[in-house]
Order: sequence, then structure tokens, then C-alpha cells
Amino acid sequence: MTHLVTCIPGDGTGPELMEAAKIALAATGADIRWIDMEAGADVMDKYGTPLPAEVLASLRETRVGLKGPITTPIGSGFRSVNVALRKELDLYANLRPAVTIPGVVSRYEDIDLVIVRENTEDLYAGVEHMVGPDAAESIKIITRAGSDRICRFAFEYARREGRRKVTAVHKANIMKLSDGLFLEVARAVAGEYPDLEFEDRIVDNMCMQLVQKPELYDVLLCPNLYGDIISDLCAGLVGGLGVAPGANFGREVALFEPVHGSAPKYAGQDKVNPTALILSAVLMLRHLGEREAADALFQAVKDVIAEGRSVTYDLGGTVGTRAMGTAVAVRTASLLGRS
Ligand code: NAD
Repeated sequence: MTHLVTCIPGDGTGPELMEAAKIALAATGADIRWIDMEAGADVMDKYGTPLPAEVLASLRETRVGLKGPITTPIGSGFRSVNVALRKELDLYANLRPAVTIPGVVSRYEDIDLVIVRENTEDLYAGVEHMVGPDAAESIKIITRAGSDRICRFAFEYARREGRRKVTAVHKANIMKLSDGLFLEVARAVAGEYPDLEFEDRIVDNMCMQLVQKPELYDVLLCPNLYGDIISDLCAGLVGGLGVAPGANFGREVALFEPVHGSAPKYAGQDKVNPTALILSAVLMLRHLGEREAADALFQAVKDVIAEGRSVTYDLGGTVGTRAMGTAVAVRTASLLGRS
């Protein structure tokens, strides 16, 4: 079956990362037809916007996208294209697995966590204002409907992927109404999934527990802000941003992208690690039902890193982005008996 997929390489190091990921993906034999789209800082002059309307139209049509990182100017300039994509397409669920890859230097072994982050509400709703010249207010928005759909997403994901436990993260002891509502909904939804263990943790305790006893946890269900912070903490547990993949899901569209940014200081140098984008592509293959291709590509990444010869600088190697992508492709083809 041919899969139509919107491809957004992004800017900074995005285009070279996407080239490497496409080389690796091609080796799986999955039948993907790419619809290539431009977005980001580099297209401002051409389109007058970093997010041309045809990018959104393509994602709505293909319903699946693979995206490289896109730069967001600090303080002034255009608003975040990443946040705009999530808002426009109502990509309410952000999934960030944190899994140990042997060969990646980290303080821990055998980490296998998945963070499910609500992507549209909380302090990210963008409702803030000055109260006179010397005070500012940001409004934290938590709704029953928004909490219900992310809780259901987390439990459905846990059941589908054979996970054992969901832990809701909150600060309902202090924010009794907003986080209290999130926790109330999580408990109610948990009651519909008696096959899955459920518990909750206050966010500060959660951070300490993840550093001390990460093996006790499985799927972490978080409102937006706690999810943002905890997913970077968990990326740190497995060796950092170079190996952290992500996915955003709405009711209609799924968009796969690494957690890291555009690392602009390395742009055009064929230097940065394509692993996070390739692992995002693994999540995409699973979403497309291409399980065999996904498993082979994931195993190939692990093999190439464990062997340690064809890895980028951040993993202690000397090869470039393209060479690492090519090494993953060669290993993938060999695992699938296609070489
Ligand atoms: P960054 O993730 O781009 O880079 C931080 C550092 O992490 C880099 O200097 C590099 O040392 C390392 N790094 C990141 N990706 C790597 C990789 N693939 N391989 C090896 N090392 C890697 O974070 P930043 O510097 O804070 O952000 C740069 C730009 O990216 C900003 O404009 C930011 O807004 C944007 N950003 C975009 C996204 C996205 O597109 N989803 C996410 C985060 C940040």
C-alpha cells in the first residue's frame, strides 16, 4: 500500500537531518510517496510567512507528516511555527518515548518511559496580560473536555502498546481547581480501564522519583507544562536530545518530529545526529501499520549505535549526518534481507 506523507524538512539543520532520515526510511521498503513542503525561517522571503497555507492543506490531505525542526526567533519576529501547527491542526496529544539505547552514554540502564503530554491547554493557551506596569498574569486553562481526550488517548495508547501502568502527574494539592479537574477526569477515565494500573504523583515528587527510581514508572500522563519539563528530564535519563523522538496526534492528523530544535550553529555542516528524526520516523511507520519496517529501522539504529563506528560527534563518533543515515539504511536492508 502506498502511503502519502507530507515532508517538512524545516530550517537550520532540518534539511540535512531529513535527507539522512529519508535514506534510512527508503531501506525499509515501506511504500511512501513524499509530498515535500517548505516551512520555516528560510521561506519568509518567498511566501511572506514561515507557515504557507499549502503546508497545512497538505497535512490535512495526507493526514500524516514527518517534520524537521523549525527555528523560532526569541523576543521578536514571527510566532512559533511549531505551536501554530499544533493549534491549527488541533494536535492535542504529544507522545515522547524515552528508551535506553545501548551505546548512548547515560547514568541509567533499561529506561523505558513514555510521556503523554496534553498539547493545547494549560499555560500554553497564550492568555496573558500586564496588570498595570509592574505585574503580569498568565491564565492556566484546564477543561473537562481537553482533559478527557488526553486521558483517553493515554489509556488507549497504553492498552494498544501492551504497557502496564499510567501515572497522572499534577499539582492538585495547590491548584485544587485546575489540576484538581485534570486529576478528577484522569481518575474517572482510569475506571474504564481496569486492565491497567493507575496512580497519580505530585509533579515535584514525580521529578525526584524519576531521577531516583525511573524503573517504577511506565506511561506518564501530563498536562502541558509538566509534560514539557518532564519529557526533557526523561530525555536526559536516556542520553539527551540527539536521541529523543516525538509525535503529535489530533483527531485527523499525526505529525512526527524530534524533540530537539534546529541547532542553527551546526546548519550545513553535515554534523548533527539524525537519530531523533529517524526514531520519529519509526513512530510514523508504526502509525501507518508498517510494523516490520518500524521494528527493523529501530533495531538498525540500535545496532549502528552499539557498534559505535558510524555515529556522529555527540555519540563519540566522527562521521557526519548523511553517513550515519546511510549506515542505518545498510543495516536496515540487511535485517530485512533486502541487501
Ligand atoms: P536545539 O535543540 O536546537 O539545540 C541545543 C543543542 O543541543 C545544540 O547546540 C546541540 O549541541 C544539541 N543538539 C540538538 N539537536 C542535536 C542533534 N540532532 N544532534 C546533536 N546535537 C544536537 O535547541 P535551541 O538551541 O534551544 O533551539 C534552536 C532553535 O530551535 C530555536 O529557534 C528553537 O525555538 C527551535 N526549536 C524548535 C523545535 C521544533 O521545531 N519542534 C523544538 C525545540 C526548539
